Amino acid sequence: IIEIERLNKWYGDFHVLRDIDLTVEKGERIVICGPSGSGKSTMIRCINHLEEHQMGRITVDGITMTRDVKCIEQIRHRVGMVFQHFNLFPHLTVLENCCLAPMWVQKKSRREAEDIAMRYLERVKIAHQANKYPGQMSGGQQQRVAIARSLCMHPDVMLFDEPTSALDPEMVKEVLDVMIELAEEGMTMLCVTHEMGFARTVADRVIFMDEGQIVEEAPPEEFFGNPRSARAKTFLEQIV
Ligand code: ATP
Ligand code: MG
Repeated sequence: IIEIERLNKWYGDFHVLRDIDLTVEKGERIVICGPSGSGKSTMIRCINHLEEHQMGRITVDGITMTRDVKCIEQIRHRVGMVFQHFNLFPHLTVLENCCLAPMWVQKKSRREAEDIAMRYLERVKIAHQANKYPGQMSGGQQQRVAIARSLCMHPDVMLFDEPTSALDPEMVKEVLDVMIELAEEGMTMLCVTHEMGFARTVADRVIFMDEGQIVEEAPPEEFFGNPRSARAKTFLEQIV
């Protein structure tokens, strides 16, 4: 469902992504890891054009990314994204946060948008707090709202960029549990995370990036048990 071919990107004269090739099949769960600054966020942000690449090709669900606004919109309709820092609107309630895009982008009625939102808020176990403001909730709860908000758009793929790394340790599990459930339901997922337990449980493949390149790509048992490159070995020693 996602095809990335020879993707290259520069920030000014800094070559941040180098010849990235990656194919994601429908229903696949992929974990991306690697040292800070290796280009993980940049790569997944390119998939929904939060960053623009200069060379190579990104295709989502048969649509090849161009600069055309319509094309970017079509791709963004298919791709949900959850960030490290939730990015909820603080002046809107949880329910309003979830209804915003379905109403304004998909032109759904408020009634319909609220029905859908409540369904997903129930799934992330937050429905009883639908009228609270983000500031009145814990980080873990806010992140679950952010996941529900993304799901309200019925994406075909979900991108996660370190969704638990800004959370207090006791809240990490509640967010990972939601992600594990999503995976079990068959959602296609691309997750940048250093939660190795999650990777072992859920990932079909682990992608290890360093200095803007994909250095290794293997099933989790193989990657954690027997990393091939010296760089991956060093990385794994540092995170455990
Ligand atoms: P982390 O694990 O810290 O989140 P990352 O693998 O996600 O790291 P990126 O955020 O993709 O790394 O950044 C890759 C490199 O690009 C870094 O060296 C970073 O400093 C640089 N970079 C990121 N965003 C920009 C930008 N907007 N302008 C210039 N350089 C940038
Ligand atoms: Mg990052």
